[in-house]
Amino acid sequence: MIEGKIVTIGEILVEIMATTLGHGFLEAQTLIGPFPSGAPAIFIDQVGKLGHPAAIVSAVGDDDFGTVNLERLKQDGVDVSAVAIHPGAATGSAFVRYRPDGGRDFVFNMRDSAAGRIAATPEAGAVLAEAGHLHVMGSGLPVPAVFGMVSASIPAIKARGGTVSFDPNIRVEMLRDPAGKAAFQTVLAATDLFLPSGEELSLFSGEADEGRAIAALLDAGVKEIVLKRGKAGASHFDRDGRTDVPGFIVEEIDPTGAGDSFGATFLVARRLGKSVEDCLRYANAAGARTVTVKGPMEGTSSFAELDAFIAATPVGAA
Ligand code: ATP
Ligand code: MG
Repeated sequence: MIEGKIVTIGEILVEIMATTLGHGFLEAQTLIGPFPSGAPAIFIDQVGKLGHPAAIVSAVGDDDFGTVNLERLKQDGVDVSAVAIHPGAATGSAFVRYRPDGGRDFVFNMRDSAAGRIAATPEAGAVLAEAGHLHVMGSGLPVPAVFGMVSASIPAIKARGGTVSFDPNIRVEMLRDPAGKAAFQTVLAATDLFLPSGEELSLFSGEADEGRAIAALLDAGVKEIVLKRGKAGASHFDRDGRTDVPGFIVEEIDPTGAGDSFGATFLVARRLGKSVEDCLRYANAAGARTVTVKGPMEGTSSFAELDAFIAATPVGAA
């Protein structure tokens, strides 16, 4: 491991949320937002809050939605020098409504927004040149320039002793597209820390059985795997075996963003040299805090907040 910033590349969005449960957006309704959002943005905000050097390569429009995000990221310690501001493009957005069954309906404006125009700028090059760690978020890979920067910077980061983590954050459709699948495989082959959740494990390894899926990934060269299990907590796997840590018992208000703040917290704790068990406990706490508040980035945490939460919150059955 080397010193240096944790850098991620990908979409910055605002989230606008329906205030009632139901199906979609076919009638006029009450909404709340804009909340700063975008999986890579939530991730890097959490890194910044933990006091670790952090930067994001992205793009926003010259509008209030962009400002909301930039101000929040700056306030939380994230270097936004490589976030391009596109005059004439709108900042990306995601409208979300929760269904009574726990599912979600989305209206995304990403491809045709500033987030769809992320490009390899000189500022991006400068930030990537000083990265000690690259975190790849699968949701951004369909943007060609994002995959271009990811695949170009991985060998450079590795050559100077840096490391790579990968959260697939995937929708099944992305893997049906051959180019999408190839992009995911390229990143996976270089991944030190893989952070799947739920069925993503079997999607990637091609093995339905959890044990065989883990073995296949470790054989392929992934050094550490952390499987996110929602309210049940998380499990860590490496060549030395497995470690399970149960989740915290909280009331879930808004699940979006849990996986992103979980991943950021595990990564930072690991870089600080904490034990696997402590890293999982901190990451579970970060994920659990995120789900207790409305808005995906509203529940990101400092170490002091995580310590207080851990001391005060009961843990579920192992
Ligand atoms: P995302 O929706 O952000 O993509 P994910 O599917 O990647 O999430 P999850 O497993 O849902 O990841 O959540 C990540 C972590 O957050 C879990 O491993 C757990 O530690 C914590 N967490 C999530 N939901 C809950 C909950 N309802 N109660 C307690 N902890 C939770
Ligand atoms: Mg996820």
